[in-house]
Amino acid sequence: MLAVDEDRVLADLQALAEFGRIGTGVNRPAFSEADLSARQWLGGQMQSAGLDAAIDGIGTVYGRSPHCEQTILVGSHSDSVPNGGWLDGSLGVIFGLEVARASRRAQHGVGVDVISFADEEGTWLPCLGSRSFCGELTKQVLDTAQSKTGERLLHRLASLGLGDRPFARLDPRRHRGYFEAHIEQGPRLEAEGVDIGVVTGIVGMRRHIVHFCGRADHAGTTPMAMRRDAGVAMFSFATSLANGLRGAGGPDAVWNFGIAAVRPGAANVVPAEAELTVEFRDPSPLMIERMEAAFLAAVRDADGALHVAVSSMPNAALAPAAMNTALINMIAEAAAETGASHLRMPSGAGHDAMILAPRIPSAMMFVPSIGGRSHDISENTKEENIRRGFRVFATAVSKTLDRLTQTDDLAASVSSAKKERAS
Ligand SMILES: [Zn+2]
Repeated sequence: MLAVDEDRVLADLQALAEFGRIGTGVNRPAFSEADLSARQWLGGQMQSAGLDAAIDGIGTVYGRSPHCEQTILVGSHSDSVPNGGWLDGSLGVIFGLEVARASRRAQHGVGVDVISFADEEGTWLPCLGSRSFCGELTKQVLDTAQSKTGERLLHRLASLGLGDRPFARLDPRRHRGYFEAHIEQGPRLEAEGVDIGVVTGIVGMRRHIVHFCGRADHAGTTPMAMRRDAGVAMFSFATSLANGLRGAGGPDAVWNFGIAAVRPGAANVVPAEAELTVEFRDPSPLMIERMEAAFLAAVRDADGALHVAVSSMPNAALAPAAMNTALINMIAEAAAETGASHLRMPSGAGHDAMILAPRIPSAMMFVPSIGGRSHDISENTKEENIRRGFRVFATAVSKTLDRLTQTDDLAASVSSAKKERAS
């Protein structure tokens, strides 16, 4: 087992929270002054831990374990949403840093590399750092990426002095697995009184924009039966779609009607047009397809039904990302060994792990969020839960290092471990 220092984890979390501190949270959007200062500090901490650390050309801080040809990659992100929480992302980075420190002293054949990915929160592009790390970003995407205020990403990177730095890249021969710890950002663990969420997969998402085309009329003089009311058509569509999605999705399915607009938008005018943004998520690829079919059927049924034309355009899609079974079991075993209760659950939020999961064995674990609060300065986790979560994380990484040092194949090592227990 790695000789880790829980008190240092808490001290490091506090130190990182000083960058961009705002009340009880942090304001550290990607490539802000606070974000860059935090990344420079992290790079320094990684260097002191004996890693070769640098900020790469996209703003990711990567600490490489020297003298090791094979490593486990651990980390998360250190940027935040505007006025966000102090643990979102930071928790996984600091857990990773302490595990890397301890593993340097342990002299395993397999090392630990630490990473803090750039712009996970999507101030410029969601999961920018992990997508760059995995070689997913084309030149065209980088050239055209800009912030909501219209500033070009490449311009900002250059102004921060990151313009001509090399890019850190995933190397599946080196990086044998990826572990990410994170706060839950939801209420489930706290409500069920469970210490650790063992993430089985990250949900897939589909987003569509639905357009309703009716006719503007005087809202006082036009009889109800003669209207082509795009607003009424939109509300009626949303109600029946919710029923359809409830029947089509799995038990963890969720959906949201996050943006709705009617035009021209006056109290005394029957809406001529309406637009609704529909998003739905499920951890299962099969369920996502069933929800997609239910959505398309709802559009077909609504089209023309209230004398309003209804059409839809796909707007975004993310495939569900399953976590690696061997590493999932490693976290569950680590929880059992350290006396922590755990629950297998999907992640409803996106994380860097979903970008890595299709490429190398990846796993995530959650610690409870107080009141399920997140993406706000009120986000917090009880100290005892941070400590317990760290013990589970360090144990899971330590067990994986041991197994990788003994055998080349994680899946094989897990099945032989099962056999040992059975005999
Ligand atoms: Zn996060």
